Amino acid sequence: MKNLQFDTKAIREGYQTTNEQEHSEAIFLTSSFKFDSAEQAAARFSKEELGNIYARFTNPTVDAFERKLAALEGAQACVATASGMAAIFATIMALIKSGGHIVASRNMFGTSIVLLNTIVSKFDITISYVDLNDLLQWKNAIQNNTKLFLLETPSNPLGEVVDITALSEISQAKNILLAVDNAILSPALQTPIKLGADIVIHSATKYIDGQGRCLAGAILGSQEIIEQIGAFTRATGPSLSAFNAWIVLKGLDTLSLRMKAHCENALKIAIWLESQPQVKKVHYLGLKSHPHHQLAKTQQLGFGGIVSFEIKGGQVAAFKLINATEIFSITANLGDTKSTITHPTTTTHGRLSDEERENAHITDGLIRLSIGLEDADDLIADINKGLLV
Ligand SMILES: *Cc1c(COP(=O)(O)O)cnc(C)c1O
Repeated sequence: MKNLQFDTKAIREGYQTTNEQEHSEAIFLTSSFKFDSAEQAAARFSKEELGNIYARFTNPTVDAFERKLAALEGAQACVATASGMAAIFATIMALIKSGGHIVASRNMFGTSIVLLNTIVSKFDITISYVDLNDLLQWKNAIQNNTKLFLLETPSNPLGEVVDITALSEISQAKNILLAVDNAILSPALQTPIKLGADIVIHSATKYIDGQGRCLAGAILGSQEIIEQIGAFTRATGPSLSAFNAWIVLKGLDTLSLRMKAHCENALKIAIWLESQPQVKKVHYLGLKSHPHHQLAKTQQLGFGGIVSFEIKGGQVAAFKLINATEIFSITANLGDTKSTITHPTTTTHGRLSDEERENAHITDGLIRLSIGLEDADDLIADINKGLLV
C-alpha cells in the first residue's frame, strides 16, 4: 500500500517474515551466511545474485531497521552503524577527500566537535565553524573546496534552530552536501530530507532506542550517497550488531507515541520553570519566549524533550539543585524514558574555554534536563525541592 501514515510505517515497514511465520521480528545472530552451492557463492560475490554474504555487509535484522528508518525519514536508503559517532565519521570519510573543507555549526554535540578537530583534521580536511542560526555566516564561510555543511537543529542544550530549507538553497547553489544530525528530534518530529537536506545522521542511541539500552547509529540519503558510505562501512567495519539493530527496530514501533509524551512533559515543566522566581531564564523551543519558537513551528512537528534553564546563584545553586533531586538521574545522556539532569559548564561543555562557553551562552547557572516519561508533576516536585534548598 502507498501513502501510509507515519505510525503505520513505524510498525509495519521493513521486515519480511521468514518461513517460520514469526509475528515479532527475528534476530539473526549470525556473522556469515551459507550458500546452496559453489555456483551460488560465486554469484553472490560477483553481485550477479543479491543476498547475504557476511554480517559486516548485510544482516536481515539490520536491513529491517535500515528500511524502516528510511521509510520514516523519507529517504531512499539507509546504512546503520554501531553508534552515532561512527555514523558521523563514516559520512565524512566516505564523502570528503583530503583537501576538502567542511562548514559546521559551532553548536553541535561535543564529541562531534572533537571528532572534527582531532581526527578529521588529520586527513587534510579543514573545518570552519559558524553560528547555527546565522545564514549569512554559512554563506560567507563557503570556499572553493567546501564539500559539506554539518549541523544539528535544534541545538542542545539551548534549542537554537536553523531554517533547513533556506540553508539547503545556499548549499545546493554551490554543490555542497547538507547533512543534518537529527538525533534530538527523531523523524517523528522532523524530517530534514523533506526540507531539502541531502543527508540525515542519527545517534539511534537516543530517542530511537529511547530506553537507554544500547548504542546505534544510522545515515540516510539518496541511493548514490548511501552506496558510497556503505562501501566505507563494509571496508572499515563499524557495522551495527544484529542484537542492537533489533532493539532500535523495536524502538521505532513506539517512537511517535514516546516523542509526543516527551514533548508534553517537557512543555509542562518548561512553563512551570518560567514562573519560578529563582529561575532567570528557561530555554525551551515550545515556549513563546524562545527566539526560535516561530521558526521551529514551520519545520518541526514538536519541540522535543530537552529543557534548559538558568538558575540564580550560579554554579553553587545549580549543584545544590542537581544534588537535591531524587527522581532525575545525574547523567549527561539524553533521550531516555528516565529523566536526566546535568550541569553543562562542568560536564558536556567542560572542555570549552570561558570565551567559547560565553559565545555559546553556556552560563554557570545553566542546568540541562532531558525530560523522560515519568509523571510531569512528580518531576516538577523533584525540581522544586532543589529550588527550595
Ligand atoms: C549522542 C549524540 C551523538 C553521538 O552518538 P553515539 O551514539 O553516542 O555515538 C551524536 N549527535 C548527537 C546530537 C547526540 O546527541
